[in-house]
Amino acid sequence: MKVLLLGGTTEAAALARALAGVPDIDTTLSLAGRTKNPASSPLPTRVGGFGGAAGLQAYLAENAIDLLIDATHPYAAQIAQNAAEAAAEIGLPMLAVRRPPWEPKKGDRWQIVSEFGEAADLLGAAPRRVFLALGRLELDAFAKAPQHDYLIRSVDHPGPLPMPNVTVITARGPFDFASEEALLRKHGIEVLVCKNSGGNATYGKIEAARKLGLPVLMLVRPSLPWAETVETPEAAMAWLRTRHEALARRGV
Ligand code: NAP
Repeated sequence: MKVLLLGGTTEAAALARALAGVPDIDTTLSLAGRTKNPASSPLPTRVGGFGGAAGLQAYLAENAIDLLIDATHPYAAQIAQNAAEAAAEIGLPMLAVRRPPWEPKKGDRWQIVSEFGEAADLLGAAPRRVFLALGRLELDAFAKAPQHDYLIRSVDHPGPLPMPNVTVITARGPFDFASEEALLRKHGIEVLVCKNSGGNATYGKIEAARKLGLPVLMLVRPSLPWAETVETPEAAMAWLRTRHEALARRGV
């Protein structure tokens, strides 16, 4: 059985580790190529876009893929759409692995924003110390608020930045509560801007902001196309095993 695993998340990395040990399931991991040095994977890996839904559909057909797993990030709405479209077009079974969003708890001071430009406006006119827990491609929205001191953390150095006062830390998650609290304290952070990624790997900053009583400007989750969905790599493995057995019974 040939599987294409769309990745770029901790769930996809965990699935890749689990699938690497399974005989009879031949899986290729696909990464968008956003990080220069992605974490190593035990699976054969291809890197880069397919060229939209049509390109992905062609790849699936050319490589005789039997199952598609979309384990991309909950904010990666374009690839999720492409995957759903391509799979539907050729009648390919597809599973999405999607983390449920974090829910606010007592003490959280979240404000939901519909785009990062709105977050930049909400920071206000007076200079503040802001932790932008965002991807490097999302920083341009803050060019219009150059009065703030920004802290940015990314796997690779983001290169030239659209704002003048920026401290950059390069690091790869997961990030736990204690280290996130220490980071927020060290940089005197007054407000956090982030996405509602869900899962444990990046939840530490949310807990730390709660403990320190900091406001959080959180981007609303994008709507994603309907797909058969599980929340964890373990559930995805169970789904795959069931499908594998069904295909084997049909002699595929
Ligand atoms: P996106 O906006 O949904 O996708 C933009 C384009 O990137 C897609 O149309 C596709 O290009 C290509 N692409 C995305 N994921 C791919 C994959 N796994 N394999 C091959 N091509 C892929 O996605 P994004 O928000 O830029 O995220 C890019 C990647 O980073 C995703 O794989 C995601 O899991 C990971 N990631 C994203 C976030 C986030 O906050 N968005 C956070 C952590 C990790 P073509 O149309 O040419 O095929």
